[in-house]
Amino acid sequence: MKSDIEIAREAKKRPIAEIAAKLGMGPRDFLPYGHDKAKITHEFIAGLSGRKQGRLILVTAINPTPAGEGKTTTTVGLGDALNHIGRRATICIREASLGPNFGMKGGAAGGGMAQIVPMEEMNLHFTGDFHAITSAHNLLSAMIDNHIHWGNALRIDPRRVTWRRVLDMNDRALRETTIGLGGPANGHPRESGFDITVASEVMAILCLASDLQDLQERLGRIVIGQTFDKVPVTARDIGADGSMTVLLRDALQPNLVQTLENNPALVHGGPFANIAHGCNSVMATRTALALSDYVVTEAGFGADLGAEKFLDIKCRLSGLSPDAVVLVATVRALKMNGGVARADLAVENVPALREGCANLGRHIENLRGYGLPVVVAINHFTSDTDAEVAAVKEYCAEHGVKAVLCRHWAEGSAGAAELARTVAALAEADSAEFQTLYPDDMTLWQKIETVCKRIYRADHVEAAPAIHEKLAEWQSAGHGHLPVCMAKTQYSFSADPNLRGAPTGFTIPLREVRLSAGAGFVVAICGEVMTMPGLPREPAALRIGLDAKGRIEGLF
Ligand code: ADP
Ligand code: MG
Repeated sequence: MKSDIEIAREAKKRPIAEIAAKLGMGPRDFLPYGHDKAKITHEFIAGLSGRKQGRLILVTAINPTPAGEGKTTTTVGLGDALNHIGRRATICIREASLGPNFGMKGGAAGGGMAQIVPMEEMNLHFTGDFHAITSAHNLLSAMIDNHIHWGNALRIDPRRVTWRRVLDMNDRALRETTIGLGGPANGHPRESGFDITVASEVMAILCLASDLQDLQERLGRIVIGQTFDKVPVTARDIGADGSMTVLLRDALQPNLVQTLENNPALVHGGPFANIAHGCNSVMATRTALALSDYVVTEAGFGADLGAEKFLDIKCRLSGLSPDAVVLVATVRALKMNGGVARADLAVENVPALREGCANLGRHIENLRGYGLPVVVAINHFTSDTDAEVAAVKEYCAEHGVKAVLCRHWAEGSAGAAELARTVAALAEADSAEFQTLYPDDMTLWQKIETVCKRIYRADHVEAAPAIHEKLAEWQSAGHGHLPVCMAKTQYSFSADPNLRGAPTGFTIPLREVRLSAGAGFVVAICGEVMTMPGLPREPAALRIGLDAKGRIEGLF
């Protein structure tokens, strides 16, 4: 099998106007960015209100191995396969962060015969959205320090500014910095630091905003720190919301590209899946729903984090409601959940796989708890044996869920046709009765406890008094209606990445809480989270370059 980049290079792409026409767009409804990318205009999107909505399919996964289980690949494969069986389907996924590309090999555009193209651009600068987000974020940072420099009328306490700066690069040296050095002309010295752009609250806001006006309102609500009297200061107090919105105007328009099979894909926004909600923009999903019979979309990490946030944050805040869920499982991840070491995953091991199926079972139960019909997609790897696949199917049959073996990575849409038929039958039965896990009016602490106990199955949540105080403070400041955004390891239901399968009898340690008042959630951090990654000892950047024909080598 050829590498992802070799396959992507050989793609028979159609001009982007043709892809737009498939969605009913005329030449003035999109802004071409070259031959194979476009943005869908705000004007066209505004005219879509009241249109009949297509069906929404969420792709999520069991607790993964570090290599990823193929959610994006399955999202693309299923989108192509739905088109293949005669449904007009659009794919919605996240944009890629630049930083990780130069660290570890691996793209964000799917893989094998189920990819979105142009994959190099999508993984690099694309249409400049991340540049716009970085600029909007840093404009607010600059205006905060400028405000303090010119007399500090708001009486901002420089020691309590929580708004940092961002950069789309893995650069550990910038995690903690001192700014304002060099004398009075350079402002007030204070400690600060950098996060990666995808961790910016501006990214989460762009992904949850319903239009430009909502975008500006959310930006205005960002809390940047406190005054000397410990009163919260917002971006609106600083006066930055208007110019931030200007910088983001074009970026809020969803990006249209295509799959290897020339079906439409909207690739828009890319919030972190830990301190943010980890799904593509509401603008893209809504636009796609108004233009297609089906929209297939992905949530980051395993279903305990990704699907939970998709449902309890994105769907709650936007009114979206999925019609069915595809739970991606791989034989290797099931074996890993059954205790097999990463190095031994290619060896047949049916007993361990059966053991690991407990992880699958718990995710199925959780998703059904949201009132959603579920199908399991077994993403086939060449190392899987027939006995292993049969064992997964048997487990699913015992639990009343259909499991479909999928070969879209090797075969494209034909390899996922059975999955597409199963998904269409499930969705078209209209059996989904979606309900969020908790109501808006539960307290913030109760919401955190509900997720930990009902989704993770923890016995207790442990938090220092200072955390309870903060939650109570936000509760009385009018933020109590917000959903919670859990940040936890993706490898386990628990906060311990080594506790695989379906663990019980554990406690979730809540270490920190943060208010993202603009995005509209309270972040609950359980364990270590990294908001500025570093590069590994041997970064991929060492091997990336142009070949004699000017093509990119070493990226994937
Ligand atoms: P996720 O979205 O769950 O993180 P991806 O779909 O991005 O996972 O896939 C992760 C990597 O695994 C990609 O490099 C992809 O090409 C590869 N991959 C996915 N499915 C298969 C498969 N069935 N066989 C081999 N490699 C696969
Ligand atoms: Mg993915």
